[in-house]
Amino acid sequence: MSASTLSDVAVSGHFTAGSQWTPVHESTISVYSPLDGSLIGAVPSAGADTVDQVVENAQNAFKTWSTTPVKERVQVLFRFKNLLEKHSGELSELIQRENGKTLAEAKAEIDKGIEVLEFASSLPQIWDQTSLEVSTGVSCQYERYPLGVVLSITPFNFPAMVPMWTIPIAIACGNAFILKPSEQVPLTSVRLGELFSQAGLPDGVFNIIHGGRETTELLIDHPGIVALSFVGSTKVAKLVYQRASALGKTALALGGAKNHLVVVPDADPEITAKNVIASAMGCAGQRCMAASVLILVGETGNILDHIIEEAQKIKVGQDIGSVISHDAKKRIEGYITRAEAAGYKVLVDGRGPVVQGKEEGSYVGPTLIDGVPPGAECACDEIFGPVLSVIRVNSLDEALAIENANPYGNAAAIYTTSGAAARYFSERANAGMVGVNIGVPVPREPFSFGGWNDSRFGHGDITGMDGVRFWTKLKKITTKWTAAAAKNWMS
Ligand code: NAD
Repeated sequence: MSASTLSDVAVSGHFTAGSQWTPVHESTISVYSPLDGSLIGAVPSAGADTVDQVVENAQNAFKTWSTTPVKERVQVLFRFKNLLEKHSGELSELIQRENGKTLAEAKAEIDKGIEVLEFASSLPQIWDQTSLEVSTGVSCQYERYPLGVVLSITPFNFPAMVPMWTIPIAIACGNAFILKPSEQVPLTSVRLGELFSQAGLPDGVFNIIHGGRETTELLIDHPGIVALSFVGSTKVAKLVYQRASALGKTALALGGAKNHLVVVPDADPEITAKNVIASAMGCAGQRCMAASVLILVGETGNILDHIIEEAQKIKVGQDIGSVISHDAKKRIEGYITRAEAAGYKVLVDGRGPVVQGKEEGSYVGPTLIDGVPPGAECACDEIFGPVLSVIRVNSLDEALAIENANPYGNAAAIYTTSGAAARYFSERANAGMVGVNIGVPVPREPFSFGGWNDSRFGHGDITGMDGVRFWTKLKKITTKWTAAAAKNWMS
């Protein structure tokens, strides 16, 4: 740890009524940079009083915001987009500092968040309030209404992008919004709040409450919050989904993942190697879309040599950032050590790298483990670090059987130059997002993001039109007018 103390660092408050708020009686949560272990900030941990107050602020804001026409609501989003672009450098540095990823990765997550913002800004053009004459003189019409005060609980790995999956769509739909960011990376979101205010978003429409598990539970249970989304680990996703559903709340909870990449003999060696390594090692493997199992089918020639070469080119602390914490580093390295002890071959070993001048940072280098059986711990658990386990099989069907048997279902990808193999795989992979020669098959907006199986609890995807459906409710209005009623003065 560096020498700084809590009194040296600024406390970033909750965000409500258009500004930061730090209740004096609340304890604080320290925020450390995983890049070098230094103390970089702190946030308060909200108790019941704070939650009550923020929900009340949001409820008050909802009254006016929900009746503001959608064309007016999205004007704020246009201004917010300009501000995000203007402040993208500063935000990227903040994301890098609190999360540990590289600056380029931090910038890329802002760009991806902006895509969702652009989608939400187009809502007036795609708003689906159809009307139809269902019998003579009788029409049926859909009207979409916001839900009320809604909540989003987010993980550490994308301090800007994951919050941006939900904030713009929920707000454009007319809801008042409370974000509960990860207590490990709470600082970026406070800047988002300030930029929203600068963009002219009315006070109380966007709010942030800081805290960990207890605060999150207070929020889920609060009767003033009607719907929530969650993104994080499968264990917590399931708990949160069950807790919210038991209270009759609308909930969507995205969980963890174990993503498989399948390489068949006709794959292009160089393109495949670069792409496999980018998928497994990007963001230090801390992406729910990161590859963590590589299945080589039959004779794949020297593809693995190319993959090893690509992994060895990566400079730790430069091309790959840190993982989120010392605990995460210890956990990830434990998986590698146990895999080695079980007799699997560690082809590239990322344990214990030292980054000069950042000896207190939490770094793990790219790691490749070969000869892994399908049931091995490292082939089944979500390690959430830059570790790729290699499994060898004889046929595409065997590869598919392994992919299909894993309980998660975020992403799966095939590397091939054969359209038939690509089609065969896409139809049979048991995942919500499938890639062909793309190792991180995140759909670009307006295509929606969402996995299957234990990677998602609830219905639908989190972005795109599914996001609009999730954050609104439909009213069906049936109207009958008779022409006679207007006869006196119209004819
Ligand atoms: P996490 O589940 O530990 O925490 C997520 C959020 O839940 C945080 O805000 C945390 O404060 C809160 N929380 C933690 N424990 C809780 C509890 N018992 N009750 C209520 N709230 C609780 O996840 P993390 O470590 O921050 O993030 C990494 C995980 O997120 C990985 O598993 C990754 O795959 C997953 N993830 C999934 C997606 C997706 O789209 N499926 C996207 C990003 C990350």
